[in-house]
Amino acid sequence: MVPMILERLVKGYVLRPNKIRFRLFSGHRLRRMTILAAIGLLAACGTPESHLERVLHRGELRVATRSGPTTYYLGGEEPKGLEYDLAKGFAERLGVQLSVIVADDMDQLFELLDAGEVDLIAAGISATANRARRWQFSAPYQEISVKLVFRQGEFWPRDFSQLDGRLTILARSSHSELLVASKPDSPLLSWHEVTDANVEDLVESVLAGDLAYTLVDSNDLALQRRYHPDLAVAFTVQEQQPLAWVFRKQDDPSLVQAANEYFQSMQDQGDLTQLLDLYYGHVDRFDYVGTKAFLAAARERLPQFRPLFEDAAAVTGLDWRLLAAVSYQESHWNPRAKSPTGVRGMMMLTLPTAERFDVENRLNPTQSIRAGASYLTQLKQRLPERIAEPDRTWLALAAYNVGLGHLEDARILTEFQGGNPDRWSDVKERLPLLSQKRYYKFLKYGYARGHEPVQYVDNIRRYLDILQWLEPAESPLTNDDAPELDKSELPAKS
Ligand code: GLU
Repeated sequence: MVPMILERLVKGYVLRPNKIRFRLFSGHRLRRMTILAAIGLLAACGTPESHLERVLHRGELRVATRSGPTTYYLGGEEPKGLEYDLAKGFAERLGVQLSVIVADDMDQLFELLDAGEVDLIAAGISATANRARRWQFSAPYQEISVKLVFRQGEFWPRDFSQLDGRLTILARSSHSELLVASKPDSPLLSWHEVTDANVEDLVESVLAGDLAYTLVDSNDLALQRRYHPDLAVAFTVQEQQPLAWVFRKQDDPSLVQAANEYFQSMQDQGDLTQLLDLYYGHVDRFDYVGTKAFLAAARERLPQFRPLFEDAAAVTGLDWRLLAAVSYQESHWNPRAKSPTGVRGMMMLTLPTAERFDVENRLNPTQSIRAGASYLTQLKQRLPERIAEPDRTWLALAAYNVGLGHLEDARILTEFQGGNPDRWSDVKERLPLLSQKRYYKFLKYGYARGHEPVQYVDNIRRYLDILQWLEPAESPLTNDDAPELDKSELPAKS
């Protein structure tokens, strides 16, 4: 059974290539060699290898995951996703290669693990009591809640008694376990379970009116609602469910312990907060009206300006979608936009900025976009070289909004308070303090409305997400040749 699955996976059922190896990374080689020498010594004494030792010996960490926005996807040139990034970091720490296998559904995930084909599952898996009887869990790295969702405008159920059996969920998911546990208190509760689908399929079926209700983890929901504002929450089914990695029970706990140490050090160094911010930091607050308006504008107004963004992107090397997102935040793509403070045009340039970049007419969209793009590029260049992407872009955007001086103040304050001034997630926490006297009186550039750049960057990131979803960039890794998912199992709306 499992070799067949693997063959299918390797042939690229979900993504091609499905199995991706990454050679990682010379800095850790020494540590690995030392550990290997110790293992060699132990082996010579006849002690059986632990799970961790097997991974080190093999030089490869095998991880099963699911594709999806919360776990693993191909974004631009490289795989992305919180689970992928976490697994990559763990492999790096161990000094081994990472090998990722993308399973089609929950069944396959656990089959791969049970068969020993992978060392662990990293796939947004909830650490539930039932599962803990069969598998080992790492320490949790994220807390989520579970929501019942429906399509905005349809009947809004307030509890399980109002669902009329029209609830559909993923088979073998934690949601199934949750509903079974809820049954004694809600005897009328009934539901359908589907295999061979993922959360996005269920959500899209709800939005298309093919399904009435489904359950979604809150992290998935936050990402889905970036582009699907009509996905409405009926009620919370469960608060606070931990997500964790899964390991076999028959394996000794050495690899689990190594994973826990890794999560602990990620936590201690702020890396986990940084990673969570990368994927979720800008989607905490959901703005129904704003998202609807943006989607409509992207359809109706953006096409006429797109060539201008692309031209400015070609000159500066920035992503045209980023420029479009900035411009929407600035002017809602209105070339004649004006603010009471005297900034104008598509990129809302001040007069001095416009003069600096040779803009003759700020209301001319071509000139405005070019100058805005050059200004943003210049801000990026003026930040210290060591600052990596995407933090570099978010920090430059904050400077575009509040000025480089205030941004520098916030970075100094961040460092003073023990944070990392090169990380957007740390600086973002301190920017709002610039409006409080007890902080700004010590800072060079003084008072600033520090909430605004935070809101500004969050909005642009949300718009950028939507544009990347609507207009994906060319990618060397494509899934064009993956077959369509068979949705025939999805029951029609009753
Ligand atoms: N967290 C859920 C589970 O562990 C999966 C979430 C989903 O895909 O909806 O089964």
